[in-house]
Amino acid sequence: MPDTDKRSDRELSAIRNYPLLLRRYARLVEVTTDLASRLDLDSLLQHIVDAAVELTESESASLLMYDAQSRQLYFEAATNELAAGVERQMVPTESSLAGWVFTHGEPLVVDNALTDPRFFREVDVLTRFRTKSVLGVPLRTQDKTLGVIETINKRKGRFDEQDVRLLQALAAQAAIAIQNSRLFQQSDIVAVIAHELRTPLSALMAAAYLLQRPDLPKEQQQKLGESIYTEVKRLNEMTTDFLELARLESGRIRFTREPIDLAGLVRECLEIIRPQAEVDHLRLETEVDPALGPVYGDRNRLKQVVLNLLTNAIKYNQKGGLVRVSVSAEGSEAVLSVMDTGRGIPPESLPRVFERFYRVPDQEAATAGTGLGLAIAKRIVESNRGTVGVTSEVGQGSVFTVRLPLTP
Ligand code: ADP
Repeated sequence: MPDTDKRSDRELSAIRNYPLLLRRYARLVEVTTDLASRLDLDSLLQHIVDAAVELTESESASLLMYDAQSRQLYFEAATNELAAGVERQMVPTESSLAGWVFTHGEPLVVDNALTDPRFFREVDVLTRFRTKSVLGVPLRTQDKTLGVIETINKRKGRFDEQDVRLLQALAAQAAIAIQNSRLFQQSDIVAVIAHELRTPLSALMAAAYLLQRPDLPKEQQQKLGESIYTEVKRLNEMTTDFLELARLESGRIRFTREPIDLAGLVRECLEIIRPQAEVDHLRLETEVDPALGPVYGDRNRLKQVVLNLLTNAIKYNQKGGLVRVSVSAEGSEAVLSVMDTGRGIPPESLPRVFERFYRVPDQEAATAGTGLGLAIAKRIVESNRGTVGVTSEVGQGSVFTVRLPLTP
């Protein structure tokens, strides 16, 4: 038995704190077990920051990921107090606390960030949050550092050795879970893509094979040539969509955030699709609230969304039908809706139209498409802090509605 008298005060207080510490480690085991079972990247990252706050008893936490292309760190998740202002915000690797942790690959404790020259103040400006103490640890897998977890403002006292150890243990498990989730998403999308490529490829193969026959009548040659062209065009569209979706799903796309005049954007889109509407004898109507202020987001990508909704409204319409676009304000949101008088979407398909590759079964044969447009649109809108939804009635038409915040 060791002699208690010889123990230092520090050791004694550590022993007194054992039950508390055990509870924190037990909780660590619980949360990391939970992380291991999550494959959806967004919800995984959110759980990691929530766990970080809880385990280190701090006010908030954030997770930054390194982007190899731009060589900067980006906020990928933060707890509620921080989340509003920092989403996808860039943090310079060379002049920030997180950057220091990332490049040194070591934990860092700072009692007063405001007096530390490495502190990147921009984030506090954006969130109106007051950072005092910071604990940062690298998110490391065996072969590379993925990013950094930071916890901010210890609720009582200062971040100590136990906090550092707990957060490091969490980060180790979190890094594995993040990598698993990425691998899962990639394998999933590769399987789906291979499957989707099969149909046009086998049509192409059959056509190319038949074209080799010397006795083929001219007329049939012509038809086969046309079908090759159509299928190749479809493959080309698909490839573009695949790439776009894969990029969106990997979380590597950086969105700009700029004030956008939604009415102007809608006008531009209408001019682009007008020729197609004329071919189909469709009327185009717009209804724009003149008092609508700007929305904030990535203009090019949001334009892509509006074009996609308009193209669908034309594609799935009926001859002589109508497409009406309206833009208005509702509380702190801008509401853009695209209404058509097409065939509508049956109720059982309605919840699925935003899934990748989903196409309403009986429309599939009638119109060409990849089933990726709405999946891409939904991801873009959500990355711009908006929502997209649909209502529809079979035989009457559909209304797709996009809501975007009117606040920067
Ligand atoms: P695509 O048009 O390439 O098939 P989308 O992702 O844009 O892919 O749309 C998914 C499916 O939702 C379409 O295949 C179609 O069945 C249905 N859909 C989309 N927009 C409309 C619309 N305006 N009216 C009726 N059905 C629609």
